[in-house]
Amino acid sequence: MITFEDVTVTYADAERPALAGVDLHIPEGELVLLVGPSGSGKSTLLGAVNGLVPHFTGGELRGRVTVAGRDTRTHRPRDLADVVGSVGQDPLAHFVTDTVEDELAYGMESLGLPGDVMRRRVEETLDLLGLADLRDRPLSTLSGGQQQRVAIGSVLTVHPRVLVLDEPTSALDPGAAEEVLAVLQRLVHDLGTTVLLAEHRLERVVQYADQVVLLDGGGAPPVVGAPAEVMAV
Ligand code: ADP
Ligand code: ADP
Repeated sequence: MITFEDVTVTYADAERPALAGVDLHIPEGELVLLVGPSGSGKSTLLGAVNGLVPHFTGGELRGRVTVAGRDTRTHRPRDLADVVGSVGQDPLAHFVTDTVEDELAYGMESLGLPGDVMRRRVEETLDLLGLADLRDRPLSTLSGGQQQRVAIGSVLTVHPRVLVLDEPTSALDPGAAEEVLAVLQRLVHDLGTTVLLAEHRLERVVQYADQVVLLDGGGAPPVVGAPAEVMAV
């Protein structure tokens, strides 16, 4: 589903590449965990998957990245939007509507889907994420975990095959973080979605991962492997 072939990303004026010599092979339906300290290149790696790198962030990308067979050098983020959904740390900053239901529908409107398909997908997503009782609630009145579930839902209604999340639990208390992680597990197992998750708190999520990518920010290629192998490094 996703391949990186000897990928190096360098930002202008940087002393060393933000990513160096990354080789990855991520099959459909895997949950891949990116770990490493702040500045180690986690966001850059996620950006290379959703196309923000190299098209919007100014990073120079060498090597080759493909997502669902599409080369991200020749496909801009909007050409990947039907395949890759992205979720960040601060859902409130990205919400564009006022209520849960409107927010779930918003992403589909730009795709021009028929009204009955949109309504069905909103219902399906409310159920999948346990948000049905909150459908009319103003987004600002939700808990952090509920907001983050809505942010994930607003991307899922488009039926992306790949979901990238940049530290989605970093602003959450442990209970809310568990809610979000449980949702991600369900996506992987029930829908076969491929999930890339950047986290700096390793211990909570490592049990759910199929592969771990360990970045150290020192300019060396990441360590990639099964959780037990990488944890032993
Ligand atoms: P992380 O997500 O692990 O914190 P990042 O990918 O954000 O790491 O950053 C990796 C390195 O690249 C850091 O040194 C950061 O300062 C730099 N960097 C990230 N984005 C940009 C950008 N748009 N322009 C210049 N440098 C950047
Ligand atoms: P459509 O909206 O295209 O008419 P449905 O909404 O009935 O079709 O969904 C088609 C299939 O996709 C269903 O089996 C549904 O469970 C599944 N599905 C729902 N959400 C997702 C998702 N986020 N990613 C992949 N498949 C999904």
